[in-house]
Amino acid sequence: MFTIDPEEGLSSFTGRVLDTAAATVPELAGPAYIIGMELPHMRGVHIPGLDQIFRPEIEAAGKWQGPGPAAAVDQAQIYQRMFAAARAAGLDEQRSDLEARRQIAACIIHELGHAIDKGDDGEQGILSHGPEIARNAFDNFLHNEPLPEPFTVAASIVPWKSHDLRFIRCCAILHSRVIPDLPLRLSDIIETSLYGLSPARTYARAMQFDGDFDFDDRTPIREILDLSPGDILKAKWRQDVLRWFQRSPMGDKETEAAEQALALCNGRRAKAEAVPVAAASDDYLPQPFEHFYELRPTPEDWLHDSFQSETVADGIRRMVAKLRTGEGDEEPAAYYFDCNRFSLPDATGWMEAHGIRYAHCVPAKNATYPQLTA
Ligand SMILES: [Zn+2]
Repeated sequence: MFTIDPEEGLSSFTGRVLDTAAATVPELAGPAYIIGMELPHMRGVHIPGLDQIFRPEIEAAGKWQGPGPAAAVDQAQIYQRMFAAARAAGLDEQRSDLEARRQIAACIIHELGHAIDKGDDGEQGILSHGPEIARNAFDNFLHNEPLPEPFTVAASIVPWKSHDLRFIRCCAILHSRVIPDLPLRLSDIIETSLYGLSPARTYARAMQFDGDFDFDDRTPIREILDLSPGDILKAKWRQDVLRWFQRSPMGDKETEAAEQALALCNGRRAKAEAVPVAAASDDYLPQPFEHFYELRPTPEDWLHDSFQSETVADGIRRMVAKLRTGEGDEEPAAYYFDCNRFSLPDATGWMEAHGIRYAHCVPAKNATYPQLTA
């Protein structure tokens, strides 16, 4: 169990956060480094090859154990800022210390997420010109000079850049693995609304439905990320990207640009696949503890703004909605049974006893996605 001790030095704290992540993330189980350093303009940064760039310092500190993922984090800056902000918000000294350390941990996990997402083939990237040039490029980058290709992520007009679907997925899986020990919310690790996207927890919910959390902890996260996202997650992403482009002043370039963004974000290794046009709205998706009976096979048939949840009986609710085509009144779209009250056969029996025909049924995951609060 990870305990937070206000007396602990920040670099020792950082080391324990790294160990905690390494315990459940195979990609970090070998050598992995968090380099504590002053970072103007940012809290943390990851670039493939940082381990090689800072190898002299890591060796001098007696910590070099071979090549591995590395990120730089400005713990002192995060601590000072977050501590001051917490105090200003009225928290006492102890709570403020806890909050500041939580934010350091969140930043470390975020940067490790980049390391896992991008991979760490420094030879291909920043180091291809040799360690000295790489070091210079990195120093320039820290002082706001843009990195020359191939050091940059793909130039992009969108605000999420390297915080795309793959990265969100990476953070959500990381979060699900490290939270038993670190009291972090997913939104501490990635604040998707900063990038014009829906809250991270709604992605996590779609992922849960798609089975992204069903893997054993020994499964490398990158292996999961290399699997195509599930339909619900893809639909969610598509909805967010299209919404962003609809709001952006792109004019008639909108569709083409959105398609490019989707292709860029759906997977850098694989070509973008065809994804369903309409997304199931968040309201429509069941909670993890609910058995779910869809009356029509395609949620796209429903007008999404029209979803309304109604209680039918204790432990049973249903969603009513209007059909996208035609006028018509609201009609039932799906039934949801609390799995703590209804076994799957009982729920199916209830549907049949009431003469309700359904297109398909998805059993409850029967696990609540943990949301720890500090
Ligand atoms: Zn980032």
